[in-house]
Amino acid sequence: MPNSSRLVIFPGSFDPFTLGHLDIVTRAARLFDHVEVAIGINESKKSLLEPEERKRLIESITKGLKNVSAVTFSGLVAEYAASRNAHALVRGLRQAGDFDYEARMAHANLSLAQGLETIFIAASPEHSSISSTIVRDIYRWGGDVSAFVPAEVNHVLNRRRTRSQ
Ligand code: ADP
Repeated sequence: MPNSSRLVIFPGSFDPFTLGHLDIVTRAARLFDHVEVAIGINESKKSLLEPEERKRLIESITKGLKNVSAVTFSGLVAEYAASRNAHALVRGLRQAGDFDYEARMAHANLSLAQGLETIFIAASPEHSSISSTIVRDIYRWGGDVSAFVPAEVNHVLNRRRTRSQ
């Protein structure tokens, strides 16, 4: 990527990656030169999918988007973004409830890494109720999550379920 290119980082847990995340990545990829989906590793939180599996899935789901890549990282988003010389962070906004938290995060990141802006993309109406938390809950209670996640994620989750039965 040339030095003048604008790299943005889309940070999150993506546990698992949903159709809402895919919508934001696809739209960000039209606006910026490169979008890096950065999967935060949080050892203290019990996750559904391992970070490396999330990365592999995101790479497979976004393989048609040539300016999108996926990485795992640990530590502060602001420090990671600064180390990558990122132009900005991208975050999705669903309902009003997201704004409170996201605005505070954006202010914190701006003071931790000078000049690091956060750009918000409004969720599409058809995806605005989807969250990884809801997907995890439905999955853990044996429900069908195919309406909320890309086919690859649904496949991996169904395979895990079959194995554990
Ligand atoms: P975190 O663990 O940081 O909350 P998530 O993986 O849940 O991260 O989400 C990463 C980003 O994707 C956040 O900006 C979140 O608001 C956004 N996001 C999550 N679900 C959706 C959705 N359905 N539509 C649009 N944006 C979404």
